[in-house]
Amino acid sequence: MTHEPDSKTAGDGPRIIILGAGPAGLAAAHALSRAGYGRISVVERAPVAGGNSGSFEVEGVTCDFGSHRFHPAAEPAVMADVKALLGDDLLLRPRHGRIRLGGRWIHFPLKLGDAMLRLPKGFAASLIADSALKPLRRKTNGPRSFSSVLYDGLGPTISESFYFPYVRKLWGLDPDKLAVTLAERRVSSGSVGKILMKMLRLLPGLRNETAGRFYYPRGGFGQVSQAMLDRARETGVEFRFETEITRLERDGERITAIHTRDGAGERREEADLILSTIPLTALTRLIDTPPQDVTEAARAIRFRGMILLYLVLETDRFTEFDAHYFPEPSVPISRMSEPKNYSAATEPRGVTVLCAELPCDPGEPWWEMPDEELGERFQGWLGDLGLPVTVPVRRCETRRLGYAYPVYDLDYQDRFAKIDDWLLGLDGLLVFGRQGLFAHDNTHHAFAMAYGAVDCIDGEGRVDRAKWDRYRAEFATHTVED
Ligand SMILES: Cc1cc2nc3c(=O)[nH]c(=O)nc-3n(C[C@H](O)[C@H](O)[C@H](O)COP(=O)(O)OP(=O)(O)OC[C@H]3O[C@@H](n4cnc5c(N)ncnc54)[C@H](O)[C@@H]3O)c2cc1C
Repeated sequence: MTHEPDSKTAGDGPRIIILGAGPAGLAAAHALSRAGYGRISVVERAPVAGGNSGSFEVEGVTCDFGSHRFHPAAEPAVMADVKALLGDDLLLRPRHGRIRLGGRWIHFPLKLGDAMLRLPKGFAASLIADSALKPLRRKTNGPRSFSSVLYDGLGPTISESFYFPYVRKLWGLDPDKLAVTLAERRVSSGSVGKILMKMLRLLPGLRNETAGRFYYPRGGFGQVSQAMLDRARETGVEFRFETEITRLERDGERITAIHTRDGAGERREEADLILSTIPLTALTRLIDTPPQDVTEAARAIRFRGMILLYLVLETDRFTEFDAHYFPEPSVPISRMSEPKNYSAATEPRGVTVLCAELPCDPGEPWWEMPDEELGERFQGWLGDLGLPVTVPVRRCETRRLGYAYPVYDLDYQDRFAKIDDWLLGLDGLLVFGRQGLFAHDNTHHAFAMAYGAVDCIDGEGRVDRAKWDRYRAEFATHTVED
């Protein structure tokens, strides 16, 4: 579907309140104001915009919440907007990462020549055998799960050496306790043949302009969100940060008003439409008395948390690589990035930052650990991986994300459907974004959802529900790029 800007309402129009100023909320504000809607406010709990896609400085180095790239796979309307908003600040950069497989470093994304040279011979032979024997392999028995889909599609070698330990780390669950959806959303190459095709597309002569590359804003990933915020502000959108939503009033099947609290006190506002991008669990708790089964489903459905560790080193650069991926179970971190390498920044001199992603839920021991101790552990893990820190370490600081990934366990679909069906039935409310639709997606998908939502709203603030259903079917086909 396409989302062309139009002018649905002049001047004032319906009162629309957006919950959350992450990419989804910001893109909705931007698209609404561009379409001519005049009475829009965005309510955000945090002091700044950008959600999980924001950026901030650590000792002068611009850092993101873990490795963030803007993927060229973004749909054309989204890509065109981001290019227009950032202009020359949007860099097209070669991907230059490494993954540790079988104790060796392999370029990531995989490159044919490099993989043939570096993969342990036994490992490569098993991969080829898995592919050749695929038609003869017996399909796994029992209920379908992430584990059975991967095993049947890719075979035991890559499943057991890469995907299974990686998802155990990311979700804290065994692969047979995770739903098929995770494989559909996260694994874009479902067979060894497809992985080989991907590698072939990276060969000179066969690759297009963006193969093996990613877009990255000169000022950090958060510059995309900041540009949307600035544009929306210029056109009159009101942003209210550090504002707590305390209640959404419901009159029958219609949401009618929102209650908030900020430094200035409490406030009640009526709205024609509320666009929510906050976690669906939090949203459900805020609405007047959901049915019992919806409340129970919202209590049971889970998000995975993550601690981001930022280790400040006194050197210009630690390695030449943008990211290192660690599927192996011997260390609890899943990935490490060096933010300066994403934009090829040379400043500030004499200092760089390493960012480790440590999947972990509130309540787990890591969650409570002081930064200094986490920094020492981080250095220990790097030493174990053959990347010892031999330069002076200034300090370690952390950020904790409560809502890093939706957990697609075997029961999530029923629980999500219960909450989603109820929310879909409420007039005056439209829910989207990663946290709202429990969607394991990229930033460009959050933008696309917001543009789709705005395309369904008329000049009175009413939602074309049939059109929204069609967009929802399209969103269900989004596949995550890593
Ligand atoms: C480690 C990691 C790496 C990633 N890497 C990439 C990548 O390389 N490329 C990519 O495209 N995407 C990546 N993503 C995904 C990307 O971060 C998300 O797709 C994107 O941020 C989703 O935007 P959103 O607005 O839907 O949600 P969010 O970014 O989560 O924003 C939600 C907003 O709602 C606010 N909020 C929550 N509760 C309330 C409340 N009660 N009241 C008011 N406000 C509230 C939050 O503070 C936040 O600002 C990554 C994600 C993670 C966790």
